[in-house]
Amino acid sequence: MTSPATSATGAPDLPEYAPLPAIAKGAALNEHGYHVWQVERNLYAVTDNVYMSAFLTTPDGVVIFDAPPNIGHNIRRAVDEITAANGLTSRVTHLVYSHHHCDHQGASSVFGPDIIRIGHDETRRLLLRDDDPARPAPDVTFADSYTLEVGGERVDLAWHGPNHSPDNIYIHFPDHDTLMFIDVVNAGWIPIYNLNLSDDVIGYTAAPAIALDYPWTHLISGHLGRVATRQDVAMHQQYITDIEASSREALASVNPGPLFGHYGENVWAGVSAYLDAVTEHAAAPVIAKYTGVLGGADIEVYTKTTTFAIMQSIRLDRGPSGPVHP
Ligand SMILES: [Zn+2]
Repeated sequence: MTSPATSATGAPDLPEYAPLPAIAKGAALNEHGYHVWQVERNLYAVTDNVYMSAFLTTPDGVVIFDAPPNIGHNIRRAVDEITAANGLTSRVTHLVYSHHHCDHQGASSVFGPDIIRIGHDETRRLLLRDDDPARPAPDVTFADSYTLEVGGERVDLAWHGPNHSPDNIYIHFPDHDTLMFIDVVNAGWIPIYNLNLSDDVIGYTAAPAIALDYPWTHLISGHLGRVATRQDVAMHQQYITDIEASSREALASVNPGPLFGHYGENVWAGVSAYLDAVTEHAAAPVIAKYTGVLGGADIEVYTKTTTFAIMQSIRLDRGPSGPVHP
């Protein structure tokens, strides 16, 4: 990363980054700003190269999986385009929520009040709490698992504990060789800040292995321009494993004594100096390893904030606990 004095956009203070690796490149968008493609049989994905949604076309109606406002009315356009080409009804009958977050569901109300919305019990609780007219709470909810059958197609929904959010579910299409699991793995890119803005570090880091336990070839992971492969999940797991190892090494090697000594009675300054030093030490080799390999890896704040979150989880959740004062 360099900070040039001037740039072609006339924005001199913006940093420049390495060219994106090929695996991070998005899709070619149409004149409306979306790309829709067949994932498997009658399951389709639609992207604007930032967000991703999916839908299933059936003789009895269309089932939508997530309604990101970034894609918004282009979900409707994509559904109309595909159903018209295949002589199927374009009527949307169901919308499945992967989780409650506004950035993935804020176009839900576009589909009106008369469809059936499905989501986890906790999604309903959180949407009632958030009271956002753009995201009506689901009508059909479940605690552990739910099988949706529409027009001869089957979709298995399951909750395996909190991860990115408390309510984030696994959406398996057993007859489409596909899993939809949002906001954990990004195909060809590192997670953004704090493990993709996740609530539960241990749940987040364990989730890819749960995803891999399902049989699938295609992973719809909610962001960017393409569907993920099992290799993408393995690369993500390696990135997280590298941060965990580097964090443990940094916790063992950075000596807090001189830092706390320097600040004396300002103990919070000592804490900051120590944890910032551990974070810097842990993140640096990971940033170096993945720059040019995964998109966003040289945007250092992403790996640093994710490293900070993982390092805190190692200290606070997993231990081992530090020495006890004699
Ligand atoms: Zn989210």
